[in-house]
Amino acid sequence: MQKFCENCGAELKENSEVCLECGKYVSKKGNNGNTKNYDENNKLALAGFIVSMVSLLINFAGLVGLAGAILSGTGLVQVSKGNGKGKGMAIAGLIIGIFSILYGIYSIINLADTLSELAIFF
Ligand SMILES: [Zn+2]
Repeated sequence: MQKFCENCGAELKENSEVCLECGKYVSKKGNNGNTKNYDENNKLALAGFIVSMVSLLINFAGLVGLAGAILSGTGLVQVSKGNGKGKGMAIAGLIIGIFSILYGIYSIINLADTLSELAIFF
């Protein structure tokens, strides 16, 4: 677990109480009160990625991809604010989700086309 100086942002040695860069006294805790949070995967980013992967198997007119994209997008915003990690996962989930939405739309248009072509014969 890395600690950083509250004053200049320099990396602190373990258990050091004085910053070697600027000489400021720093508490042993450092400024990373949310370190535990930061080390964990963001749950929305993880959920979004999983839902987007599922959407590749079960498209459901792009609705599963839509859910995955929304979860991933929200997760990405949270990760950007420092709430957990998983930026790459969130971006991947977002891209896969959007891909699934487009595929869903394409399928619907394709189906409509097929039905209208069939309608000529009846
Ligand atoms: Zn410093």
